[in-house]
Amino acid sequence: LKENNARSLWHPMAHPADSQANPPTIVTGARGVRITDVDGHEVVDGVGGLWNVNLGFSCEPIKRAIAQQLEELPYYSIFRGVTNDKVIQLAEELRDFFAPDGLSRAFYTSGGSDSVETALRLARQYHKIRGEAGRVKFLSLKKGYHGTHFGGASVNGNANFRTAYEPLLAGCHHIPAPYAYRNPFNESDPERLAQLCLSALEDEIAFQGAGTIAALIMEPILGAGGVIVPHESFMPGVREICDRHGILLIADEVITAFGRTGDWTGSRHWGVKPDMMTTAKAITNGYFPFGAVMISDAVAEVFEGDETGAAAIGHGYTYSGHPVGAAAALACLEETRRLNVPENAAARGRQIYEGLLALKEKYDIIGDVRGGHGLMSALELVSDPVAKTPIDKQTIATVHETTYRAGAMVRMSGHNIMMSPPLVLTEEDVNVILTALDAGFAAVS
Ligand code: PMP
Repeated sequence: LKENNARSLWHPMAHPADSQANPPTIVTGARGVRITDVDGHEVVDGVGGLWNVNLGFSCEPIKRAIAQQLEELPYYSIFRGVTNDKVIQLAEELRDFFAPDGLSRAFYTSGGSDSVETALRLARQYHKIRGEAGRVKFLSLKKGYHGTHFGGASVNGNANFRTAYEPLLAGCHHIPAPYAYRNPFNESDPERLAQLCLSALEDEIAFQGAGTIAALIMEPILGAGGVIVPHESFMPGVREICDRHGILLIADEVITAFGRTGDWTGSRHWGVKPDMMTTAKAITNGYFPFGAVMISDAVAEVFEGDETGAAAIGHGYTYSGHPVGAAAALACLEETRRLNVPENAAARGRQIYEGLLALKEKYDIIGDVRGGHGLMSALELVSDPVAKTPIDKQTIATVHETTYRAGAMVRMSGHNIMMSPPLVLTEEDVNVILTALDAGFAAVS
């Protein structure tokens, strides 16, 4: 397996030579919140698949729903008016689930990047239908991550995800993120930083001209960019500015929807109602590639009231609303509610955050600890805490490998270590992750 991995498999987000240079982790089994590798080593999955396996790997109701759906209707398209019972049932459930976010209609996709692409394309169409065809630009946050399609890549805040693919979509502009550890204002107070970022947003809008901007897309808590938690005033401030300038607000909740932040959605966590919300990942607990863009009444009504007949033409996927994905999502929503997973995510999130702060006291290479709002957390590693010099690759690889050997899979991302375990993990499971990390840091101290 190890040889074939190096010979034939091109790993996403990794250099082709990496699988030759580094011993690969070949996962062969998963149960509950634990994964097992080809050598029989079992660890707590501190990554939760990839931010998505919220309910753990042994969710019986979802497995049953998938099996039953494969018998009843394994696939049919929802295309030009054809539909099926499962996607309708799911749309009703999603309407109910997202009612507190002010979102009522579901546009189905097959993953996070598709959801982002859908939201950006619908935003442009929305303005065209309303006679504001000049609103074509998009704003987003530096450090934000929005997937790999050309639209999503264009609004990605990290230049590393853009430069190789340029020229990208014209008219995408990135404003400073409320990242207290490093920012262009040298401001470490979260509230003052939020205000500075909001002023930068106002300036960018004035510079571009409000009438040229279609939408702003942001994650309520930034995930892949290193778990950046804005001050509570930030997202409401963005909402207010967007409203004042007729700019749609797209909440990219591919990671944060369905309980990850300790609330049902990230937007709700900050008391914000977006115009559209992109979801995917945990919508099926990782059991099936699926996603939904949730849309507000006000936006949907513009499409529904369009008399030109052009609305929403030319957008959709073969696997939009796959019935097996819809069945998985229905069972997943029911389990998420039954187990009240956001409550556990909030409690375990506080536990892990406190544990990480205690590790920071112990190890100088931990420059910053981020999280505390549900089960998304990150450690930023530095070789010099004053100069904040990012740690070298070898040190972080040693921390990662030792942590894994000591019982927990965590994720390396640049000079960050990130954690997004299943939301159903126990106090004891969190202790396993913290103890394993302690061993990881001890190995390089
Ligand atoms: N948006 C956000 C906020 C994400 O975190 C991701 C994936 N990590 C995406 C979009 C893209 O999702 P996918 O990988 O399912 O295409």
